[in-house]
Amino acid sequence: MKAEDAVKCLSFANKKFWVLHEEIVVDIGLRETILKKLREQFMDPKLLDILVCPLCKGPLTYKKNEKELICKADRLAFPIRDGIPVMLEEEARILPAEEEI
Ligand SMILES: [Zn+2]
Repeated sequence: MKAEDAVKCLSFANKKFWVLHEEIVVDIGLRETILKKLREQFMDPKLLDILVCPLCKGPLTYKKNEKELICKADRLAFPIRDGIPVMLEEEARILPAEEEI
């Protein structure tokens, strides 16, 4: 039932019985922006368990602020772009000795 039809029924219907589900249409650009932000904020911990370092197959540590996945053994930081981890050695940042991990 459309919202305008439901409003017509209000005169005779018990108010308790009516629930209106309004669908909100979000602009696709805005939707992508929201999803991107959510992905960045809430990197799925299960995904972290699946992801391993492509070089040593060791575990990775997620650095939220830097949006990077760190391999401590290789001292490499794999970037997360648009919420998607880029697990390529050539894309990874080599962590300098002075940077704490
Ligand atoms: Zn590694």
